[in-house]
Amino acid sequence: MTIYQELGVGTHINATASLTALGGSLMPPEVLDAMRAAASAFVDIHELQRRIGDQIASMTHNEGAYVTSGCAAGLALATMASRTRGDLVAAARIADVGSPAERSIPHEVVMIHGQRMPYDLAVGLGGGRIRTVGNALQTFDWELEAALTADTCAVVYVVGELYNGGMLPLESVIRIAHAHDLPVIVDAAAQVPPVENLWKFTAELGADLAVFSGGKEMRGPQSSGLIVGKRAWIDAVRTVGPPHQRLGRAFKVGKEEMVGLYAAVRRFVHFDHRQWYLDQLRDCSELAARLGEIPGVVASVEGRNRVGAEIPRVRIELPPAAPAEQLVNMLRAGQPSIIIRSHERGVAHVGLDLLVDGQLEILTDRLLASVRSCAAGGLD
Ligand SMILES: *Cc1c(COP(=O)(O)O)cnc(C)c1O
Repeated sequence: MTIYQELGVGTHINATASLTALGGSLMPPEVLDAMRAAASAFVDIHELQRRIGDQIASMTHNEGAYVTSGCAAGLALATMASRTRGDLVAAARIADVGSPAERSIPHEVVMIHGQRMPYDLAVGLGGGRIRTVGNALQTFDWELEAALTADTCAVVYVVGELYNGGMLPLESVIRIAHAHDLPVIVDAAAQVPPVENLWKFTAELGADLAVFSGGKEMRGPQSSGLIVGKRAWIDAVRTVGPPHQRLGRAFKVGKEEMVGLYAAVRRFVHFDHRQWYLDQLRDCSELAARLGEIPGVVASVEGRNRVGAEIPRVRIELPPAAPAEQLVNMLRAGQPSIIIRSHERGVAHVGLDLLVDGQLEILTDRLLASVRSCAAGGLD
């Protein structure tokens, strides 16, 4: 009996993406082994965080790195760091949430309208108040300039395909923010692969901090995240972050997660991403070719996923009268349950990157049968 059977919780085949609500991703053996080993002894958590930060910084060509309990936690901690800039008195003031002393510390975080997204709630959790510039289609340099005042503590910039609406290039945002002595915090939660993104936004383009999820495609512990960037800003994060009994303490990270994320990053930077990409592309092409033989169905391969990471996926266009929701529900309700998603009328997407042994065959059979049935129903 598996632990999930004992609990009476059903399991699913994940043919979509590393969704938190589905459990994120699956950790490779070297990550699980590292976590088990980390669980067997006591260590000084400050020292462990520092050593792992130094190692990850060096592997990712950054000045510094810090392990968090997720990207959202990282955004909250980065916001606190931008307010306090490493100052202990300021760190004590922001902890007295809502007091005049706390409110007197700069707290406006500027974001581009088209980049507002559900996770920016974390900025508020860090004491930031978001001020939006631009509209869904446009943002101008002068709008950003005008929004930066004595009350501003940072600019948060979200990278990825979904957040391109009316955006200014990151380079312009960095130039304008730095001219006002303000840090730029990049939310790059799901922007790997390519692995180079672990240093592109910070070491190459000059952003002060970039925050990633550890438990998405990096395959680290689900409740882990990574902040990389300039040493002074990483130290400012450290000042407010756990295990100190300061405002960031609610985002504590265990030794197992720290070591697990370290092992995941080590694996990820040495991984043969090119071969993996070609393998994914081949599997997606074979699946698309078989789906394309079904009357009325158009199937193709896309080289990037929904948020623009380099993860191929299959796009399935159903005949006009066949709702994609029906296909999604059919696969979810079957045995074993398979999760795919539709974000566009009449179109479903399937990703193969999170499948484990034997699941590609199961997925292929079920998908062909379900698409056939949906397409036929749609044509009636
Ligand atoms: C997933 C995601 C987050 C949250 O990351 P966690 O690691 O789950 O906390 C934040 N921002 C974006 C853009 C994301 O995709």
